[in-house]
Amino acid sequence: MKMRRPLVAGNWKMNGLKASLAEFGRIVEGYDAALKDRADLLVCPPATLLAAFAGARGDVGVGGQDCHAKPFGAHTGDIAAEMLADAGAGAVIVGHSERRQDHRESNGQVRAKAEAARRAGLVAIVCVGETRAEREAGQALDIVRGQLEGSIPDGATAGDLVVAYEPVWAIGTGLTPTNEDIAEMHTALRAALKARFGEAGEGFRLLYGGSVKPDNATEILAVADVDGALVGGASLKAESFIAIARAY
Ligand code: PEP
Repeated sequence: MKMRRPLVAGNWKMNGLKASLAEFGRIVEGYDAALKDRADLLVCPPATLLAAFAGARGDVGVGGQDCHAKPFGAHTGDIAAEMLADAGAGAVIVGHSERRQDHRESNGQVRAKAEAARRAGLVAIVCVGETRAEREAGQALDIVRGQLEGSIPDGATAGDLVVAYEPVWAIGTGLTPTNEDIAEMHTALRAALKARFGEAGEGFRLLYGGSVKPDNATEILAVADVDGALVGGASLKAESFIAIARAY
């Protein structure tokens, strides 16, 4: 039995049309009493589907994939955390590596987004992770600790913030770190959280993300200090997403 309640979160990225409501319905159906006993389930669809998913979510949480730091204003195409909450979200992913890479988001911006999430009453899922070059250069721990330090607001609590360790080279590639490497990173992140937040650092959930599939979920989720998973590709199908959640 894990000391923190596990969270299995799905990141649908830029995938899904209205017809995907049926697939989401199968996820809601699959989240049965036995699963509810074991883990929280969250799906982060594209913003266009958020309100529809929220209306059909049962006990499955729904979340956004990004938010702006400001509550409103002249920011064409952006979405405020308050708007996500208004559409029924309970959480938002911030600092995903695709945002850090494609939109050049800095740790400071990610931190401001995590603050915005708290202001709007959303749980922020803050993503950190090294590139392949950084791992090969032996810098993974330092890089990820630096991202954690820079991306997490001072007032964060275990109730409003979750950390997701997602090695960039493992996302969507089918590659995963060894269990030893995952354990080393999660232990380092736990130590950094405790150094910053004291004993309260024990409470933050630390997710692993990067090519989690039904066939590797059991061993990854058994690693100490892995409190759940952030799942991309395999969260698009109810069958594989529920199978991963059942790995607990
Ligand atoms: C992700 O993008 O958050 C992710 C973990 O993707 P995948 O599971 O497809 O590697």
